[in-house]
Amino acid sequence: MSEIRVIGAGLAGCEAACMLADAGHKVVLFEQKPVHFSPAHHSEKFAELVCSNSFKADRVESASGLLKAEMRLLGSVCLKVADGCRVPAGGALAVDRELFSAGVTEEVRSRSNIEVVNEEVESIDPDIPTIIATGPLTEGGLAEEIRKLTGGDSLYFFDAAAPIVTRDSLNMDRLYSMSRYGLGGDDYLNAFFDKAGYEEFVEQLINAECAELHSFEEQPVYEGCMPIEKLAKRGHDAIRYGPMKPVGLRNPETGHRPWAAVQLRREDEEGTMFNLVGFQTNLKFSEQRRVFSMIPGLENAEFARYGVMHRNSFLNAPEVLDGTLRIKGTEMTYVAGQLSGTEGYMESAGCGMLAARFLMARLDGREPAALPETTMLGALMRYLKTPNKDFQPMGANMGILPGLKDEIRDKKERYAGYASRALSDLKAYLAENK
Ligand SMILES: Cc1cc2nc3c(=O)[nH]c(=O)nc-3n(C[C@H](O)[C@H](O)[C@H](O)COP(=O)(O)OP(=O)(O)OC[C@H]3O[C@@H](n4cnc5c(N)ncnc54)[C@H](O)[C@@H]3O)c2cc1C
Repeated sequence: MSEIRVIGAGLAGCEAACMLADAGHKVVLFEQKPVHFSPAHHSEKFAELVCSNSFKADRVESASGLLKAEMRLLGSVCLKVADGCRVPAGGALAVDRELFSAGVTEEVRSRSNIEVVNEEVESIDPDIPTIIATGPLTEGGLAEEIRKLTGGDSLYFFDAAAPIVTRDSLNMDRLYSMSRYGLGGDDYLNAFFDKAGYEEFVEQLINAECAELHSFEEQPVYEGCMPIEKLAKRGHDAIRYGPMKPVGLRNPETGHRPWAAVQLRREDEEGTMFNLVGFQTNLKFSEQRRVFSMIPGLENAEFARYGVMHRNSFLNAPEVLDGTLRIKGTEMTYVAGQLSGTEGYMESAGCGMLAARFLMARLDGREPAALPETTMLGALMRYLKTPNKDFQPMGANMGILPGLKDEIRDKKERYAGYASRALSDLKAYLAENK
């Protein structure tokens, strides 16, 4: 069996290393801690949770619950450990973070065919099968090496993203399809504010609570990436002359130009998700839900992804990965976890398992079989390979799954339908692809 290198003992790296080891491979797992810590990592243990201790909802009829159910079918080590150190958190799977990291570290160390090397890796040997899983704070020599391998401009270091909402959750009676000055057809969904509504919205926006920034994240942001709440604080009309400008738009009901407008742009080809144009934000997620639900038509909006402003290294996956998490132009260099363009703890861990499976298939001389796109993991992999000029990392959400054959109007029943289809398709896939 070939020796395989895994770089980074985070969530993705630990899942990948254990899966490879369990299949009989010799694994060398490189972890820079405790020699070197990123600004957000503090523990010597593996699979450190750098922020929240929640892995989100556990119900299989939710996007994160479905993702976890799929990962359990694939044999996730992180979830096995998580189940053993749960803390009460309503319908969510939250864990005691110390016990969780200790448990995953123990899982890794108990596998005799995993050798752990505490070293900061700065270069990649193209002749050795490797999975790079160094996470969103990858920096230094390794970041430079990844830049070289991926051809220059495809490794991003700062994430200033606007929220994305699912189309299913929008109230279409209050949104209008049109483009400014009628140019570009009906490309955008538009939400219109009158003066009173706009003033109330700005008032809530400027007083909403922001997420805490780490000192390493307090860097100047490009003017074009200014958080909407910061721009709004410059003056009451500032965003009406910026992202909420109403020029070139006419409310078909009044025949007049609205006082202010929010444009929603398609995020994917099918139009299942829309982003709020120019609304990059650092508000807390709960505040985004509260304040942005004041936008007409977004009263019950479901957020496929919240806006974020944080340091986050990730690759422009559709450009530089080949659809199986391998860097294009390389034989055996794979990327997993947040660095590959997935977003979230469990998404990173799940991605680690997939990178291991894809790499093992190639070492066996087989072309890796793609996961069904009806599964959450398969849909995430599809997202990573679909060309997207504004590519941003993506977490599990129902908006990325293909619709059901028969439309189900009730959301709860529809989500249950997505879940049962995903799990039965994944079981069939696993029966065929050991
Ligand atoms: C500040 C911050 C807060 C976040 N909060 C959340 C949250 O609350 N919930 C959520 O779901 N997601 C959150 N995320 C996003 C993401 O889910 C996590 O970052 C997740 O830990 C990513 O998993 P990973 O395995 O890809 O990387 P990581 O868990 O970061 O693991 C990477 C590992 O690689 C090691 N490493 C790095 N460089 C090298 C090198 N050159 N050589 C050797 N080892 C190296 C690191 O020490 C680390 O152990 C957050 C991200 C950041 C940056």
